Amino acid sequence: MAPAKMLIAGNWKMFKGPQEARVFADAFSPPDVVDVVVCPAYPALAVVVESGLTTYAQSVHWASDGAFTGEVSPPMLVELGVAGAIVGHSERRQYFGETDETVARRTAAALEAGLGVIACVGESEEERESGQTELVLRVQVEAIRDAAGEHARLVLAYEPVWAIGTGKTATPDQAQEAHAFIKSLVDAPVLYGGSVKPENADELLFRDGVDGALVGGASLDVDSFTAICESAAHIPS
Ligand code: PEP
Repeated sequence: MAPAKMLIAGNWKMFKGPQEARVFADAFSPPDVVDVVVCPAYPALAVVVESGLTTYAQSVHWASDGAFTGEVSPPMLVELGVAGAIVGHSERRQYFGETDETVARRTAAALEAGLGVIACVGESEEERESGQTELVLRVQVEAIRDAAGEHARLVLAYEPVWAIGTGKTATPDQAQEAHAFIKSLVDAPVLYGGSVKPENADELLFRDGVDGALVGGASLDVDSFTAICESAAHIPS
């Protein structure tokens, strides 16, 4: 499924508290022809929601409430006016024990609660070098698809782990190939993520099957995030 508009999502990771988030939101005016989502850390969610920008959390738990210290539930995000959540980011998988099973549970619960989901998948450098990219993507995508089904609010993000925060970017050919493979498994829009910046946004976003971008580092700066959104605005639909 190709969405009507490109989607550009900014993952602020553990940067920007409420004050910095407000400064960013006041200065940020993305083009209307692109769907733009900002994903701040939990303490800055309310400020970004109040700014009128579409706001996603960076993760979400599967339970509605319970003894899960440090977690945030889907109804809590809905109550705050948050529109969705990233799920399964590679930093969650790498540092916080996120597994295909927990990613799938979080995705299903968030969709059930009315949230949008950007579910992240991607291979490590070793997996790519040993020819396992498709196997890894298949396992990750099928876990999400089997738990959540195909859903109008489900978006996948192809984020090769070796390209996240490293300055290395998948070539447009590598991205296009991975997106086509993901789309053969699930009928959903697929964003590319991994060192997207104003200088490479055009060549990545112009590729077939690339429905937008999940941007980390370059989303922290208003000018560079705006430039990426403007690249997306020039892609013919
Ligand atoms: C991300 O955090 O999802 C990401 C892609 O980061 P970066 O753009 O900094 O590589």
